[in-house]
Amino acid sequence: MPSSIRYSIFPSSPEAHLFAVSCTVAEPDPGGQQFSLPAWIPGSYLLREFARHVVRVRARSGRQPVPIAKLNKNTWVAEPCAGPLTIEYEVYAFDLSVRGAYLDTTRGFFNGTCVFMRVHGAEALRHEVELHRPQGAAYRKWRVATAMPRAGADSYAFGRYAADDYDELIDHPFELGEFSLATFRAAGVAHDIVISGRHDCDMKRLARDLKKLCETQIAFWREAPMKRYVFLVLALGDGYGGLEHRASTSLVCSRDSLPRADTPATDEKYGTFLGLCSHEYFHTWNVKRIKPEAFTPYDLDHESHTTLLWAFEGITSYYDDLMLVRAGLISRDAYLELLSKTMTQVQRGSGRLKQSVAESSFDAWTKFYRQDENAPNSIVSYYSKGSLIALSLDLLIRQKTDGRRSLDHVMRILWKRYGRVGKGVPEDGVEQVAEQVTGVKLRRFFDSAVHGTDELPLARLLKQVGVDMQLRPATSTSDRGGKAKKTDRTGKRVELGIRTRTSGNDVKITHVLDGGSAQHAGLSAGDVIVAVDDLRVSGGNLEKLLSRHQTGERIRLHAFRRDELMLFDVTLAAPPRDTVSLTVSDDRSLDKARRAWLGTT
Ligand SMILES: [Zn+2]
Repeated sequence: MPSSIRYSIFPSSPEAHLFAVSCTVAEPDPGGQQFSLPAWIPGSYLLREFARHVVRVRARSGRQPVPIAKLNKNTWVAEPCAGPLTIEYEVYAFDLSVRGAYLDTTRGFFNGTCVFMRVHGAEALRHEVELHRPQGAAYRKWRVATAMPRAGADSYAFGRYAADDYDELIDHPFELGEFSLATFRAAGVAHDIVISGRHDCDMKRLARDLKKLCETQIAFWREAPMKRYVFLVLALGDGYGGLEHRASTSLVCSRDSLPRADTPATDEKYGTFLGLCSHEYFHTWNVKRIKPEAFTPYDLDHESHTTLLWAFEGITSYYDDLMLVRAGLISRDAYLELLSKTMTQVQRGSGRLKQSVAESSFDAWTKFYRQDENAPNSIVSYYSKGSLIALSLDLLIRQKTDGRRSLDHVMRILWKRYGRVGKGVPEDGVEQVAEQVTGVKLRRFFDSAVHGTDELPLARLLKQVGVDMQLRPATSTSDRGGKAKKTDRTGKRVELGIRTRTSGNDVKITHVLDGGSAQHAGLSAGDVIVAVDDLRVSGGNLEKLLSRHQTGERIRLHAFRRDELMLFDVTLAAPPRDTVSLTVSDDRSLDKARRAWLGTT
């Protein structure tokens, strides 16, 4: 029996963004050995066709060349072959996102899905990686960060790493370069924070805050399934994103969301960054281990459909901010503000009335991940609505059991029954467990909230924990970004029903919302608004021009469609009551229930 599959990876030309990779199979399939690169990366439900960055592929047995041919978009076959067989190829790496691979003269990063070919039939073998340092004096200080176990005691070094099987091999991204590093222990588990890119983060403070967060989550689940965990962070001028792995996460953030010594605890950008860390960390249990049957095992050549992304992304999105308040990292009021923003976001898309979160999950590959100008009218986010379903479910269970049970209990049983034992969750598994654990009849709730498009009973449920919910019209365009200060809020009087993007003087319509006055008048996405009532629209004055009008009045609106100037007769509508505000009620008898939920009154 061959003992392992052996890879060598060498950042051969950082200036040309090329990794040179080889893979040696001791005992290849004598009938022709197949190799392939995944078409997608777990956690991101879009076919990305990583094989398109493979520059050339050759095969040899010892020094003898072996013919290698392509079978389809991502599969090669080497034949005739006798062992040992080595294939060699280059990978072009110039994707800054958390889902790809990147290499330049300042740093390197890769996901295994981009660089390590799968050796068909050998997936269960041990996979070894020899990682080489780039050549030249400029790279002498480079170190390595990954959660993949290293053979040898020397941490953060180039050299040999190993994974138990192919699945594990591609689930430990690598960062190479001169990064900042901080370490801490949470519930006995070693944690690293690695930050690349230019930044002035207070590493000690970040470590202190993340330690609280990780301890809160491990206490929530009652155990940590990993021996070590690594936060791989890339700081950019502007950026936001994360991808979860079994013992690490890759994050991209804007450098000013990282804390400095004088950053107040209430800083919104830092709170958003902590929320991202919390989200990906929660995935260590929910989706990396508790995962749908459809992903057990992953089929990385094709789309894998499941109706359950609402549970894996939505429930995770519910707990990400909730863990921040339970860990004492944000205040109760800051939490309610975040919650109200999610509620507003869901409220503002009519897609929620047409697509259920189960459907949105199933169609993630072609809809949620490929959003176009019609997205708000046709798609509901299984993240944001999913998180509100989790909130509703949690509050409903707490209410029906007089606080004896909660969604927390449901999650822990899902962990015991599926996550810990490596068993996939069937499509109705979350619903089954929720009913069994709580003894509450939840069929109608799931039919309506998960499989239907009814509005969620949020106002009623929040009232039980002493939170009052109100819907009001948006106050100003800047309010949509959530950045308006309370004192800036001037009531919005009319609404066109569009979303726009301003660049220079151009105000371009990005989305036309269903049933709004712009749609009635015939405006389309892509139109550039140039005048209202024969006055020039420039940059940010559209709202000011509109604010002279009352509901029901008509305006003349000029816009370019492609290069054709068009005139639209628009009857202005009242702004919809689609902005949620949440306030704590004066009823002290509900303090106890709220404390049980948030961990603070
Ligand atoms: Zn997620």
